[in-house]
Amino acid sequence: MLVGSHLDSQPYGGRYDGQLGVLTALEAVEAVAESDAEPDRPLEVVNWTNEEGTRFQPSMMGSSGYVGYEDVESLLAATDRDGAVVADELERIGYDGDAPCEPPDAGVHSYLELHVEQGPTLDDRDLSVAVVDGVYGMSWLRITVEGQADHAGPTPMHARQDALAAATDAISEITRLPGRLSADAVATVGEVSAEPNSVNVIPARATFTVDLRSYDDDVVDRGVQRIEAEVAAACERHGVEAAVDHVSRHHSMAFSDRVSAAADRAIEATGVEATHLVSGAGHDAQHLQTLTDAGMLFVPSVDGRTHSEAEFTEWADCVAGARVFANATLELATE
Ligand SMILES: [Zn+2]
Repeated sequence: MLVGSHLDSQPYGGRYDGQLGVLTALEAVEAVAESDAEPDRPLEVVNWTNEEGTRFQPSMMGSSGYVGYEDVESLLAATDRDGAVVADELERIGYDGDAPCEPPDAGVHSYLELHVEQGPTLDDRDLSVAVVDGVYGMSWLRITVEGQADHAGPTPMHARQDALAAATDAISEITRLPGRLSADAVATVGEVSAEPNSVNVIPARATFTVDLRSYDDDVVDRGVQRIEAEVAAACERHGVEAAVDHVSRHHSMAFSDRVSAAADRAIEATGVEATHLVSGAGHDAQHLQTLTDAGMLFVPSVDGRTHSEAEFTEWADCVAGARVFANATLELATE
C-alpha cells in the first residue's frame, strides 16, 4: 500500500500544498509502526517528483511515469527554460535513485493521499476533513482571432477589423458562461496576447486560452460548443475570423469506493467533522486510480488561498486530517 503526496512547490510557495500530505503519510506510518496493529502488507511512503509542473512539464511527472501514463525516459529528458535536463538535475540534488520508477511485481493494493483543499469550501463550512469523490473533467482551448492592422487615428470605427475587440467581446461571454451551464462549472481565460501590441495600431491578431471544468463531462462538452458559438458570434459582429484549437481534454474521474468507504469509517471512528467534495484541481492520486484503488482526503485551506505565501492550514485541522488518514491507512493495510 502506498501513502504520500509531493514535496515540490510553486515559485512563491506555499508550504502546505503537497508537503502536508507527505508528512501526514510519514506520521501515519510511524503511528502504525508504534501501535500493536499488524498490517497484512508493506506500507510505503511516496514523494511524487514534480507534481506542480512549474519548472519542468508535464506536471504530475513522478506519478504519471510510475503508472505508465507517460514514458519515464522521455520524462527524464524533459528540459526547463534554461535547457537543464530532469535526469541531470535529479542526479545533482542526489535524488536519482537506483529503484525503477514502476509498481512492484506484487502490484499496489491501494493508494491514499491527504492534500489541502486549495478552495474555500471546508473553511467556509467550518469542517476539518473532506473525502474526495473524484476530480473535475477539463478542456483547454486556444483561440486565435485574425483581423487587420490599421492606424488607430484615421480608421473609423465602422471600417475596422479589430481582432482584440472581437476577442474581448467573446471573453466577456465566456466568463459569464459557467453560471448558465451548471452550479459547479468554472471557466478561466488565463492567457491573452495581441499583435502587433502597439498603442496606436488596431490589433491584427488576438490569442487567448480557455480552461473550462466541471465534474459533469456533458457540461464540459456543452460548454466547449457554447464557447465556439460565442467566438463565432463575436467574430461576426466585428467582421473578423477565428480558429479554435482543442489543446487538451481530460475526462472527470471517480476515486475508489473501497478507499472512500475506509475514509468514511475513519471519520466515524475519530468523530471528526467532515463532508465529501470533488476536486477542481488535478492530483497525483488520479494517476494512481488507473493502477489501483486510490482515494484522497482534503483538509481546509484558510480563505481558500493556495499557491502563495498566504497558504495556511490550522494545526487542529492538520491533526484531525492525520488521525482520519492514519485510521483509514491502517484499515486498508490490514483488510
Ligand atoms: Zn499539490
